[in-house]
Amino acid sequence: MPCLVMKFGGTSVADLDRIQRAAERIKHEIAQGYQIIVIVSAMSGKTNELVKWVKETSALYDDLEYDAVVSSGENVTAGLMALTLHKMKVSARSWQGWQVPVRTTDTHTNARIEEIPRENLDRAFSEGMQVAVISGFQGISSKARITTLGRGGSDTTAVAFAAAFKAERCDIFTDVDGVYTTDPRIAGSARKLNKIAFEEMLELASLGAKVLQTRSVELAMRYNVRLRVLSSFEETSDRGGTLVCAEEEIMESNVVAGVAYSRDEAKMTLISVADRPGIAAAIFGPLSKSGVNVDMIVQNISEDGRTDMTFSCPTDQVLRAEKSLQTAKDSGAINYHNLVADETVAKVSVVGIGMRSHAGVAATMFEALHGEGINIKVITTSEIKISVLIDRKYLELAVQTLHDAFELEKAG
Ligand code: ADP
Ligand code: ASP
Ligand code: MG
Repeated sequence: MPCLVMKFGGTSVADLDRIQRAAERIKHEIAQGYQIIVIVSAMSGKTNELVKWVKETSALYDDLEYDAVVSSGENVTAGLMALTLHKMKVSARSWQGWQVPVRTTDTHTNARIEEIPRENLDRAFSEGMQVAVISGFQGISSKARITTLGRGGSDTTAVAFAAAFKAERCDIFTDVDGVYTTDPRIAGSARKLNKIAFEEMLELASLGAKVLQTRSVELAMRYNVRLRVLSSFEETSDRGGTLVCAEEEIMESNVVAGVAYSRDEAKMTLISVADRPGIAAAIFGPLSKSGVNVDMIVQNISEDGRTDMTFSCPTDQVLRAEKSLQTAKDSGAINYHNLVADETVAKVSVVGIGMRSHAGVAATMFEALHGEGINIKVITTSEIKISVLIDRKYLELAVQTLHDAFELEKAG
């Protein structure tokens, strides 16, 4: 029997009515002759509430217990979905990560899936189960503790199951009807893309477009999973939604595919560190060990053998970064005058594989921001993207301005 993976995000299972509507979609696919693996998220807002409770209990919380608490939202939805399917005479069973088992690394709060053995689910399917309802976002470590896969991790659960069970398709049902040129909540003129290349989606996701978790796109690319993003609120046809696919499948495209943003960035500056070989390793080694995701890095001009080092990281990692750098300073591994955290910045990026062969994208971007009087604080580039840090208060304006500057409302 061909297998289909259907993933329902938080808003698509926000209450019992929505779960019922999702269950009807699932029943429709059963009638098409599929064996179905459903991945569910926690009900909308639930994970945020759980994270808040953890942080309120303990600012520098224990990651293992964070995972124990925060993974629980998905379990509620999985059980409710199975019960809803039972009412519709569908043979369904809920599965928590450890029951499958979804084996992950031991990196709590941000674990990676290593393996999904098929035996348990295959046996259940052969005994008559029509739908396996899996709690997304969670797995089990080598030490038999519950892990979570990072925010938005249910997307990754879905793609990993699609790869393990060689699913014909992996459909991601969400609250928008596909991937847009930018977040449609910010730019009214955002245009839905019928197709987007894996590489572009990967960049957009890693630069903040939360419609898909970055790791899910990586896995889809590696295992050639047919990944589709579509709305759980609208009727969909075979041509609906957005297909994330290989570059070769896309006939026409713009130089810039989309604009992504990440609102909660912090710009950290170490004032007056010794400018000597090994200093970068001495700073960024401990940061990486304590789980800080450093993104942009700028080393300033040095004077009298001392320099300023600037880097960016998500605002919720500022505390960890400060603690880790203080520890390195106390141990004598690094020496700096002080650490300045600017938590009022945001990152805006333009992404497109067309940049490989077209010059002038950076100039257009900087000119457009200048035209609105938006100051650029840090810049980084790669082959297919340009990112800038700006004041957070200009974020919406910057996204809309860049969308207009690259005429993304028009099809390529
Ligand atoms: P779910 O709960 O279904 O996983 P998410 O909130 O994680 O949904 O992701 C969907 C949201 O992603 C949309 O509501 C939209 O605001 C946001 N988003 C950001 N960038 C984009 C984009 N380029 N295209 C579509 N949606 C985007
Ligand atoms: N519930 C988790 C989150 O909100 C995982 C997910 O929805 O993908 O991050
Ligand atoms: Mg999501």
